[in-house]
Amino acid sequence: MQITRLATPTHETVLRVHDASIGLTGFIAVHSTKLGPAAGGLRMRPYNSEDAALTDALRLAEGMTYKNAAAGLPLGGGKAVIMGDAAQKTSAHLLTFARAINTLEGDYWTAEDMGMSPADMALLATETKYVAGLPDGPHASGDPSPITARGIFNSIRVTAKHRFGSEDLTGRTVAVQGLGHVGTYLCEFLHTAGAKLIVADIDAKRVAALAAKYDAQTAGPDDILTVNADILAPCAIGAILNVDSIAKLNVAAVCGGANNQLATAEDGARLHTRGILYAPDFVANAGGIINVATEVLATGNRAAYVDEKLSAVESTLDRIFARAKTMDCSPSDVAVAIVDEMLADKAA
Ligand code: NAD
Repeated sequence: MQITRLATPTHETVLRVHDASIGLTGFIAVHSTKLGPAAGGLRMRPYNSEDAALTDALRLAEGMTYKNAAAGLPLGGGKAVIMGDAAQKTSAHLLTFARAINTLEGDYWTAEDMGMSPADMALLATETKYVAGLPDGPHASGDPSPITARGIFNSIRVTAKHRFGSEDLTGRTVAVQGLGHVGTYLCEFLHTAGAKLIVADIDAKRVAALAAKYDAQTAGPDDILTVNADILAPCAIGAILNVDSIAKLNVAAVCGGANNQLATAEDGARLHTRGILYAPDFVANAGGIINVATEVLATGNRAAYVDEKLSAVESTLDRIFARAKTMDCSPSDVAVAIVDEMLADKAA
């Protein structure tokens, strides 16, 4: 295995991990350890080039710095990628990569991301201790989705308070795009709170099942972005809030679980200009990383730790919306500025 340290002005440490004998090329990007060890998942997917894989690792690692800091976790941001089809993954790929993670001596903790399973994390753990998302063991944190959904539900209530003057969701219509792990749990929370649902997924069976269970209206996967509702909750894919879709939105607020909902940073301002209140995704969907943090930090009493951090996320979002109103700007810009201040304070 060859490990090459790449110099980047934006990230603390970036490693290229290569082993031609087993067809492995990947990158580990540590964006920041100012607040604690960098934590973020390991992703395996085909990339067109090494540049594309490196760019993805750098972008995702930076995103984790913001997500972990906004959640009030003593963790920095990092991410790792392996180039290739996850269906072609071998034990040799994972064990070699685990040895590369060890060279960072705890500056980077990995966990599941696209193309990885709890079983893969268990295999990594035979070679490195810097891994979370394990299927079992004393600190295993299990499926993060229910906690992620709880955090989004709480964030929707905070969003409703700022947009409509009340957290009460009774009779409010929420359009949910994506009925996977997170979307399904979120629908349950919303239905229990008395909200009306409009649901969409590319999987028609999921749509039919959820519609029947919660007496929800349905919409096509693209139409969900134009339906008339109070709040849109994107829980499927990223970059769905862009110059075209924002012009057609028919909601007063957006708050959901999908990562990287804004196609570009300017799309936060576009939403603001249209008077649509946007809950920054990396704040609203932090429940998942909070759950993983209980494992990385071996917090013990997981439920209490999760409750405390989820409640802090509500306060942070409240503060973000209040500041955005005062400054007449996008909550996403405020969220980024707040984390930048936290990092600057730590450096001072
Ligand atoms: P998932 O794969 O279980 O569910 C995604 C759902 O979206 C699937 O049902 C899929 O059919 C549907 N979908 C895909 N493309 C779609 C489209 N164009 N229109 C409508 N539906 C579409 O994933 P998940 O774990 O529920 O995560 C959902 C999102 O939340 C992702 O962006 C993920 O990165 C993010 N997220 C998840 C967690 C977590 O704890 N699982 C934590 C933080 C962020």
